[in-house]
Amino acid sequence: MPIYEYEPVNINNCCNKCEHGFEYIQKIDDSPLAECPNCGSRVKKIISWCRAAVIETSEEHAQISRKIAAYEKEGMWSHAAELADTHAEKIKDNRLKMRAIDNYEKAGYDAGTLEKHAKTDNQNAEP
Ligand SMILES: [Zn+2]
Repeated sequence: MPIYEYEPVNINNCCNKCEHGFEYIQKIDDSPLAECPNCGSRVKKIISWCRAAVIETSEEHAQISRKIAAYEKEGMWSHAAELADTHAEKIKDNRLKMRAIDNYEKAGYDAGTLEKHAKTDNQNAEP
């Protein structure tokens, strides 16, 4: 998860925590903080994507997830499928793999072949 940085909107109306700005760990999908969690005065986000809170791959994963979602939204199923498929292989994410298969189906590929393909891949991954 990324760390977001916030600073108070009104520097004269804030606590020790937010006075010089503070960091807050949030999910990508969470809406930005409007208030300091400590004193409740109004804050604004300074930087997004400044750092990954856990490991770099989680930020990469989030970015790729958003890209896949964007492709899906545009109806670019084969693009979404290929990206999800490649990334699922890389991070060994079976749910993402199923999402890839779902998108392959929407793109008009033969689902039966793909499921078999996914199954074979899993067997290879776990000897
Ligand atoms: Zn505060």
